[in-house]
Amino acid sequence: MKTTLEALDRATLRGRTVLVRADLNAPMDDGRITDDQRLEASIPTLRLLIDSGARVVLLSHLGRPKGEAVPEFTLEPVSRRLAELLGHPVAFVSEPVGDEAASRVSALQDGEVVLLQNTRYLPGETANAPELSASWAAMGDLFVNDAFGAAHRAHASTAGLAGAVRARGGQAVAGLLMARELRFLQDALETPERPFVAILGGAKISGKIDVISALLPRVDQLLIGGAMANTFLKALGHDTGDSLVEDDRVAMAGELMDAAGDKLVLPTDCVVSDRIAPDAVTRVASLADVTAGEMIADIGPESIARYTGFVSGARTIVWNGPMGVFEMPPFAAGTMAVAEAVAEACGRGALGVLGGGDSAAAAEQAGVVDRLTHVSTGGGASLELLAGSVLPGVDSLSDQEV
Ligand code: ADP
Ligand code: MG
Repeated sequence: MKTTLEALDRATLRGRTVLVRADLNAPMDDGRITDDQRLEASIPTLRLLIDSGARVVLLSHLGRPKGEAVPEFTLEPVSRRLAELLGHPVAFVSEPVGDEAASRVSALQDGEVVLLQNTRYLPGETANAPELSASWAAMGDLFVNDAFGAAHRAHASTAGLAGAVRARGGQAVAGLLMARELRFLQDALETPERPFVAILGGAKISGKIDVISALLPRVDQLLIGGAMANTFLKALGHDTGDSLVEDDRVAMAGELMDAAGDKLVLPTDCVVSDRIAPDAVTRVASLADVTAGEMIADIGPESIARYTGFVSGARTIVWNGPMGVFEMPPFAAGTMAVAEAVAEACGRGALGVLGGGDSAAAAEQAGVVDRLTHVSTGGGASLELLAGSVLPGVDSLSDQEV
């Protein structure tokens, strides 16, 4: 177990300079933040530190400026929005590291927050350059990593900084968001209440094969939907028409099915159309009569009934990936029905965890976000955790003293 911010004695935080790596990588359009979700998720840790009288040095990346100071990726608008959400000033320093940053940090008073410029303005960030981590580590002796969304990469401001702070005798701990993500995506799945049902969908099977392999031995059922299902259906010998299929994964899908037996559940019917468009004309097809020129773009009503039946009986549910092209009304029914079923199961006391960027958008569209146990803020990081990988951003933290 890793040490968490929650476990620290609050009294030790007053007057202490605390380095916080958050994931403030909010979607932007023309300098405006289009979605506050990531900023809001970072608030509890910042509140705790401010209320405890810590001096907060906040670090984050934004977009992919690739090691250069690209104005489009400045964190300045984020500092303003974050201040509004916090109801507390957030000073901004226009460089991620250097003399100005160092002097602004040393002038901090108790309870003050300063946000440094985008860490990815520096090539050393993604290269995990030790000199860069060391210059941040020199600013404080406590590092709080709350950037779950960036935890699957070893970068200078994440795993590197944790190591550098610890090398100087300081502590590196999980922030409140990081701890929450780990509690639901890692701990809860180690000893799941049964039945344990996983639902996997989305665009591609290739990015999620490790997740399928890691979940199969643990779950009671693994329900497959989305374009991912098409590759399995092809492996079963069905004609998938013009559907999105990963031909180079068909053999692998066959092997997974053989190993899984009846744990792996595939659609028995589907919604097809000759084009993927918001005004597409659709029909429900059995797996045997998908024809050339047609594309499978959602699971069908019989599959919906079966999948929601499994979900209703489950006590633990992990869901990643939409069941169809939910962004367009003709192909949204499968995803919306599954979202509602998971939310209802949570209402009856089941643990329901959702991961994935598009899946989170689908839950938003279905209006169920507040009824789910947990919606992960990290796409790639949540998939890697589900696949059983050790995340560098987590592994680098101090172990809990026992
Ligand atoms: P997440 O971000 O939740 O991990 P993915 O990125 O893997 O999910 O997949 C989401 C995308 O998959 C959505 O944009 C959706 O339109 C697409 N998708 C789902 N089912 C199909 C399908 N049958 N054919 C084509 N695209 C699909
Ligand atoms: Mg996605």
